[in-house]
Amino acid sequence: MNAFIKNLKEQGKLDLVLDQNRWNFEKAPFIISGPCSVESEEMIVDISLSLKELGVDALRGGAYKPCTFPVKESIGNWKEGLREDGLKFLISAREESGLPIVSELMDPRQINELSMDAIDIIQVGTRNFQNYSLLDELGKLDKIILLKRGTWATIDEILGAVERILSGGNQKVAICLRGVVGMPSYRHVFPSTRWAPDLMMIPALKELCNIPIIYDPSHSTGYRNFVPPVSKAALAIGADGLAIESHPNPEKSISDPDQAVSLDTMASIMKDLN
Ligand code: PEP
Ligand code: MN
Repeated sequence: MNAFIKNLKEQGKLDLVLDQNRWNFEKAPFIISGPCSVESEEMIVDISLSLKELGVDALRGGAYKPCTFPVKESIGNWKEGLREDGLKFLISAREESGLPIVSELMDPRQINELSMDAIDIIQVGTRNFQNYSLLDELGKLDKIILLKRGTWATIDEILGAVERILSGGNQKVAICLRGVVGMPSYRHVFPSTRWAPDLMMIPALKELCNIPIIYDPSHSTGYRNFVPPVSKAALAIGADGLAIESHPNPEKSISDPDQAVSLDTMASIMKDLN
């Protein structure tokens, strides 16, 4: 144990995270994939069947989508996501494919019968990484929480947010790293690369805690061609799984069109895992 960790231990700061019994996803690496947002019932059911066929372990799809411009970015019924309808469509996708569902909740008021029925793994989005009232409520649930790192968050803030959920009683927390603030030096050539990949945080966290770590190569790169190599790198450096945005027609994605991979690319990522 290095001196820094020893010091944190002596101050009691790491006890909660280090002393938990490690829990595991049923399979390693655990692969989550699906569209950024649920766009229609047909689309989410169809892609769930394709992803199941490829050997993906869980289906992602945002029903509640925090948008930077909530009015300008809405299209028809899709207003920061399809919301309750999106959750209902996710239930259909689980019924058809058998895949567990990963989806985001943004607010404690969204914890209700429908969302608890629809979501197997609750995603906390980057923007709510330090929404303490949300984290406190999630700590009372018996569901896996996929906590996405705030784009600004230091390692202690990550551990603190994990501790907040664990201390409520819910021991099933996974950390999802998804890129951080910092100007990638290739951005002038690849303008959709908005965040800087945070791969080094994987071994750093592994030294301090035994919480499973999922890497998100989609938001962390922002560009679909970078997703396959960064997926490999994340697993090589110790990630327990990946969360990858995929879409039947990536350029047409309502949200995050530049980073979604096609089903063909998803198939080759899955093949590379074996
Ligand atoms: C997402 O997973 O689609 C998402 C909005 O991610 P983040 O919260 O990391 O930006
Ligand atoms: Mn997205």
